[in-house]
Amino acid sequence: MPSPSDPADLEFSPDEMRRLGEAVLARSVAHLATIQQQPVRGDVAAEDLCRAMREPAPEAPAALEPLLDRLFDEWIPRSFTTPSPGYLAYIPGGGVYPAALADLIAGTTNRYTGVWLAAPALVQLEANALDWMREWMQFPPSARGLFTAGGSMANFNAIVCARERHLGPEIRPGVLYASTQVHHSVLKSAKLAGIMPDRVRAIEVDAAFRMRTDRLAEAVEADRRRGLRPFIVVSSAGTTNTGAVDPFDAVAALCERERMWHHVDGAYGGCFHICPELRPLLPGLSRADSVTLDPHKGLFLPYGTGALVVRDGAALRAAHTATASYMPHMVEGDEFYDPQQHGPDLSRGFPGLRVWLTVKLFGMAKIRAAIAEKRALAVDAADRLAKVPGVVMVAPPQLSLFAFHLDWPGATRPARNEATAALMARVTARQKVMLTGCEVDGRVLARVCVLSFRTRREHMDVCVQHVTEETRKILGGIS
Ligand SMILES: *Cc1c(COP(=O)(O)O)cnc(C)c1O
Repeated sequence: MPSPSDPADLEFSPDEMRRLGEAVLARSVAHLATIQQQPVRGDVAAEDLCRAMREPAPEAPAALEPLLDRLFDEWIPRSFTTPSPGYLAYIPGGGVYPAALADLIAGTTNRYTGVWLAAPALVQLEANALDWMREWMQFPPSARGLFTAGGSMANFNAIVCARERHLGPEIRPGVLYASTQVHHSVLKSAKLAGIMPDRVRAIEVDAAFRMRTDRLAEAVEADRRRGLRPFIVVSSAGTTNTGAVDPFDAVAALCERERMWHHVDGAYGGCFHICPELRPLLPGLSRADSVTLDPHKGLFLPYGTGALVVRDGAALRAAHTATASYMPHMVEGDEFYDPQQHGPDLSRGFPGLRVWLTVKLFGMAKIRAAIAEKRALAVDAADRLAKVPGVVMVAPPQLSLFAFHLDWPGATRPARNEATAALMARVTARQKVMLTGCEVDGRVLARVCVLSFRTRREHMDVCVQHVTEETRKILGGIS
């Protein structure tokens, strides 16, 4: 502990730092070493626990070990085991180790990376990582990017860029378009950006849950006739419900014609564009004005890193540039990237280091192989499950997510919904595979999303086996 005789001393000695660091590292590594054996869905009925945890800030110092005991033995297990290879719920990512190391470096060295001038070489690493994203999306060199806390904030920033570019101060007539399947963060972001719900249009989807561009064109025209100003279409590179990929080329063509901004929410699926052989699954993505990516999904990073890439870097900068007399001089021109001039944050962590160190330690060949494998695993599992009697594959994988429900002769919709929900609950209760569902047009769908780097062939075999066995039991009980 820092010197007890000096009440204001907060510094640890090098030996203490090492000892504390090793204690934390030992627990973290042990946690990951046993991740496969941990239940995939911890007990999150924890109201009483949470009530009992409330306490005032302590006056006296505590020892680290007992705190680690409680964290690792009591609190961390009371959660969805998101790093588990069997976590196929929502959109997983896993959380690669190099990013955790980067966070430790960022936290201990604590340099100021909000402003280029304060740590130019470190900011350059972040600029490199953003430029890699730009290249993976096949955007032109004039594009600029921004690391955000997640996909939600990237979507928010994209809407602000589009609003500034196309509406200026006349926000109220501006209209945003997205499919009925768009992620709810887009609606939240619209509101935060001053685009109220009455200026947001939900465009119908086709049988594969993709935005219908004929309906989009009609909606744009109708709003123009009303004297409103259509300014942005948000399409999805993989929806959260069913993994649907919107028709980017058609949307891009319409946006060019109508002088609107085309934003692609690729929080789930954008990273599949990193693999050249998978780019045909996302045709036209690189024509967008901006793309949201979530490195904490598709690049397998731990939570806390989203990204936005904007085709016209000047638009990103124009939306965020600001200064004050106490600020160091801004970077003139755009040879060097200045994070605070491209996003809303000033002081912040160092998200670029997590991406940079991860990419450097693995190399892109390995990362591409992992991304491609997740898709292959999903395609294979969907093929196998589609053959199980009673399983109806409603949305085969466009990327690495598929959705299905149970059905049998004479089934009513409520009975199907109940059986499909029961299937997810029973599979998850076996604690090897966690599934979540969605509801589309009154239909309950079970989803499997493969995007954790830890999910390998053997885990998908367990998924197929458990879904098959539980389907048999449920349908056996009905007929
Ligand atoms: C996850 C997700 C988001 C939200 O991203 P966060 O990182 O959770 O903020 C937005 N859109 C899609 C399609 C997503 O999958």
